[in-house]
Amino acid sequence: MYYGFDMGGTKIELGVFDAQLQRVWQKRVATPREDYTALLNTLVALTLEADAHFGVQGRIGIGIPGLPNEDGTLFTANVPAAMGKPLQGDLARLLAREVRIDNDANCFALSEAWDEEFRRYPSVLGIILGTGLGGGLVIDGKVFSGKNFITGEFGHFRLPVDALEVLGRDIPRVPCGCGNHGCIENYISGRGFEWLYQHFNGQHLPAQTIIAHYRAGEPAATAHVERFFDVLAICLGNLLTIIDPHLVVIGGGLSNFDEIYQALPARLPAHLLKVAKLPRIEKARYGDAGGVRGAAFLNLAG
Ligand SMILES: [Zn+2]
Repeated sequence: MYYGFDMGGTKIELGVFDAQLQRVWQKRVATPREDYTALLNTLVALTLEADAHFGVQGRIGIGIPGLPNEDGTLFTANVPAAMGKPLQGDLARLLAREVRIDNDANCFALSEAWDEEFRRYPSVLGIILGTGLGGGLVIDGKVFSGKNFITGEFGHFRLPVDALEVLGRDIPRVPCGCGNHGCIENYISGRGFEWLYQHFNGQHLPAQTIIAHYRAGEPAATAHVERFFDVLAICLGNLLTIIDPHLVVIGGGLSNFDEIYQALPARLPAHLLKVAKLPRIEKARYGDAGGVRGAAFLNLAG
């Protein structure tokens, strides 16, 4: 059995998956945000409850909103209880088994990569167009997380010069949470989508409203969406040129903007090497369930 924990700032969800990778059990509890011992106890209790239910010792994977550090501690701003704590080692000792931990964006990508149809692709690039922009890279069923666990943090490369041609060279270099300015996350995420609309039209509207206006043929929204698609394609084109994945899966709130799946294939070839054939580009299939799936599947390879 594969146990996947999706550890969020407010709740911890456990999903139990069988050998066919079907979810057979789930449970959700509040996250002990401030108390590390209580957090450990919660994870241990959920594990032992699942062990008792299925009569096995399940293999444990945990997706966290943050990064594992090289020394085995965690960086988890949204879960203060785990911040700087050696959760992986402590839990492995308490439960007498291996515990795998990875970033929740990597877990998203892993969940999609193990989809029954998608798992035939040797490399899968998962992109989350959510409030921010992130994702993960899965190679042969395994997360490639890099030396510093930042492989999927492509929201923090700066606007490419082609994007400046589209947005105007005087486009403000928006301060980013990472400390830099002009990171692409601030322009092509869900938040960026709204920021760009406001920048060019002087009005803040929710993304859903802008999209509704676009679908109604409203000129300002149409110009905005075309511009957004252009910049998205430029940034994604750079990613594809670096990684050359076999499949791209897009998740997060903006992934439900279905026009993206026609807009990107139409625009991307202009930003790729001539020899490059477009990879398949698909909408994520697992939504919120991707967190526990990907965490559980950390134990599938390697
Ligand atoms: Zn940044």
